[in-house]
Amino acid sequence: MKDHPELDLIMEDVEVCPLCKGTKRTLLFNTYDRLYRFPETFGAFSCDQCELIRISPRPTAKSMDRYYPDEYGAYVEINANEVNQYSSNERVFSGLRDGIRNSVLSSLNYYEGELKPWQKVLRPIFTKLFLNHATYGYGDLFPSFVLGGKALEVGCGNGNYLRYLKRHGWEVNGVDLSPHAVTAAKKNFDIEVFNGQLEECSFPDESFDYVHLSHVLEHFFDPLESMRKIYRLLKKDGIVFIDVPNADGTGAKLSANYWYGWDAPRHLFTFTPRTLSLLVNEAGFKISKLRTDVWNSFDWAEVFKQEELHDKKLENRPPEFKGAKLKIFAQGMLSLAIHKFKPESGDFIRCWVTKGFLP
Ligand SMILES: [Zn+2]
Repeated sequence: MKDHPELDLIMEDVEVCPLCKGTKRTLLFNTYDRLYRFPETFGAFSCDQCELIRISPRPTAKSMDRYYPDEYGAYVEINANEVNQYSSNERVFSGLRDGIRNSVLSSLNYYEGELKPWQKVLRPIFTKLFLNHATYGYGDLFPSFVLGGKALEVGCGNGNYLRYLKRHGWEVNGVDLSPHAVTAAKKNFDIEVFNGQLEECSFPDESFDYVHLSHVLEHFFDPLESMRKIYRLLKKDGIVFIDVPNADGTGAKLSANYWYGWDAPRHLFTFTPRTLSLLVNEAGFKISKLRTDVWNSFDWAEVFKQEELHDKKLENRPPEFKGAKLKIFAQGMLSLAIHKFKPESGDFIRCWVTKGFLP
């Protein structure tokens, strides 16, 4: 481990589980910031009562900046025009592509003008074949359209997701802790982002039809309080989407302490389908859909293992591991195979919740 200057870091013990208020806990393993290799160590504990996994001690909110350097996350600026610029010989294909996209999006209640007969007739086939392409790679993470709808993304980074919602008629807002994110989202996509904690923003209650939480809930200091805030911000018939790493997934099981998804101390909590369900229910939500998806991170687990072994950061991350390539490949295949008969074994939990008033 590298030498570090003495830093005025303040750590806090998390004695009480924010979900069930239990105080008894079991240490699973000790860990540290494997991504940036800071020397501080943290414990990963499982709550004896509800099994929610938490990091303790953890940096206080004020000490957290150290663990979010500028290169972290999706704060890079993007050229706002890149998606809609075609060279002349691409125009005919782009016309066809947009025709297919509009046909697919109409199946999600979007209206991009009157559909031509071929767009109507082929719509079921297009939707089946091209849902992912038509939704910029988001698939069912792209919400159905709501007329006059307002969407909020918490932890929106540079606005890369919100820009597509905005393009197709949503009124969008973002919240992000990074001032870089706020500047990039405004400059590139003219999207307003509140810079700060979710708890500090002053949107009126029942403002939003859709709230998107992609890989942010595990970063919250009090995820139950945050979900309660989102409950208040959501309209009666609104939908919230949540995406978090799965501590019960095959990646976590096979990679153990080296699993990329632990990401201490940025991930203050790690969920399983069960503990995520407990949390959203406790905040008042009903689950309308929950599934897990495989996301292979065995190359990163190997990086972390090698780095720990040699006590230094590898030059390439993740590099080509000549010796371990077969192992990484086999783990990936095994992961997919297990997921076929054990659908809760994926590495991400994807969950859609409502207030329970939907028809
Ligand atoms: Zn608990």
